[in-house]
Amino acid sequence: MKALVLFSGGVDSTTCLGIAVKKYGKENVIALSISYGQKHTKEIEAANAIAKYYEVEKMELDLSEMFKFSDCSLLKGSDKDIPKESYAKQLEKTNGAPVSTYVPFRNGLFIASAASVALSRKCSVIYYGAHSDDSAGNAYPDCSEVFNNAMNTAVYEGSGKQLKIEAPFVSLTKADVVKIGLELKVPYELTWSCYEGSEKPCGKCGTCIDRAKAFAANGVSDPALR
Ligand SMILES: [Zn+2]
Repeated sequence: MKALVLFSGGVDSTTCLGIAVKKYGKENVIALSISYGQKHTKEIEAANAIAKYYEVEKMELDLSEMFKFSDCSLLKGSDKDIPKESYAKQLEKTNGAPVSTYVPFRNGLFIASAASVALSRKCSVIYYGAHSDDSAGNAYPDCSEVFNNAMNTAVYEGSGKQLKIEAPFVSLTKADVVKIGLELKVPYELTWSCYEGSEKPCGKCGTCIDRAKAFAANGVSDPALR
């Protein structure tokens, strides 16, 4: 059996990769990194280093054309600033809508694209690292369990029951993800989460704050900051 991992080079997808490599063996795992027009290439560089560490095949796909109509603050075409506060703070101002770093239906497109690649490459499972902190308060609705179950049904039926989605963290928190990853000795020192593309993580954007909290909850400092 072969597995395709949707792989951004961040904490969650790298932990997914660690799980997949342990379960299927490195020769049966493909890491798929998708560009969506983000402002920087730090996560792609991190993804390359981690794929090399695990000695898995890496594939790349560019979907930036799909997102060029969006003014999401993560995207190159946007002049909006990336918010420098926690998701909880951001959600106080959105009236139930997703946060400004929500890329329109990104995970829907990512999973659909991954499904096509997975079938072409004879994989029978897609791993992706959505977790419950991301969908909390509707920040990123395309990380929710309901969304995942619907996509899983679509992928399973649309592939003639050849392919399914594994989202092992969908009901877990990011702190839980890090706990699992630390046990698996995931190389977190190689990962990149920050939405800004500076030399060092900014420490102030939503994802930096979430990441710091997840490591702190496990009583360790973030290996990428050491
Ligand atoms: Zn940051």
